[in-house]
Amino acid sequence: RAKNDPGGTLCYYDPRMGEEVREERMLCTQLAHAIENDELEVHYQVQKSLTDDSIRGYEALLRWTHPTLGPISPGVFIPLAEANGLIVELGEWVLRRACAKAAEWEEPHGIAVNLSAVQLAQPDLPGLIRTILHETGLAGRRLELELTETALVRDRARSLRIMGEIKALGVRVALDDFGTGYSSLETLRLFPIDRIKLDRSFVDELSGNETVTPFVAAVLALGRSLSIPVLAEGIETDAQLALLRSQACEEGQGYFLGRPGPPSLVFADSWSARVA
Ligand code: C2E
Ligand code: MG
Ligand code: MG
Ligand code: MG
Repeated sequence: RAKNDPGGTLCYYDPRMGEEVREERMLCTQLAHAIENDELEVHYQVQKSLTDDSIRGYEALLRWTHPTLGPISPGVFIPLAEANGLIVELGEWVLRRACAKAAEWEEPHGIAVNLSAVQLAQPDLPGLIRTILHETGLAGRRLELELTETALVRDRARSLRIMGEIKALGVRVALDDFGTGYSSLETLRLFPIDRIKLDRSFVDELSGNETVTPFVAAVLALGRSLSIPVLAEGIETDAQLALLRSQACEEGQGYFLGRPGPPSLVFADSWSARVA
């Protein structure tokens, strides 16, 4: 399309695109040193039962604080890391940290860790997970891996085999961002999923509604008929929470229930309760 554009447009767009590409390259180079430069952190966000308010577990979320630019959103640096393969190293780092942290908890709370499609395509993901569980002493049943439909369907046969090996370790699998992919039903039909994470965009739809919207109701009914618990993502208001509860949605996560934060903040309560 650029070829047919009048010169003025080209002049306007070219330098900007160049700058964007340069900036991405720079970020990639710096991200490659983020681990050794101690710029990464794992934050944790609580996942709660909506029936009795009990804590089910925490989701590990990677954070990068750039030395001059400050915090960079995972929405920006995760895709970059996926594109250049760095996600393999970063993902292993998160998994090890998160499992070690979860092993400290006295409670039976689990830890949920996001996995990229790139990690799923690594030669020995189940072996790596087994090693990390062994090193950290975390029981496999306390680890849940969050995968998206898109990641799973990239190579169905392979995903199915790897999932079998992962589940043989007792590790659970959650389907993240459910409803935003292209083959939600087929994913549920083919793969042994332990939990459905209803994408935040569906919970957003509940804002200002008196009753639950048809899509949310449909996903909750689907989960029920397949006996797979549904966790609603991105609950921001008590109204959203009440609607989800009224429809017997099993679990929830979101700013209203607890913001993601560093261990010192997120686990402060349980820690003080324990030492009190
Ligand atoms: P996700 O796995 O779907 O994680 C949920 C995202 O929603 C997180 O964004 C979380 O901070 C945000 N969130 C939680 N509650 C609310 C809420 O009530 N309202 C709103 N507006 N947002 C809420 P975050 O931390 O920016 O991460 C974005 C995405 O980056 C994640 O989406 C996940 O796909 C990816 N990601 C984060 N950490 C990792 C990681 O360690 N490995 C991989 N592969 N991906 C990661
Ligand atoms: Mg997730
Ligand atoms: Mg999600
Ligand atoms: Mg997401």
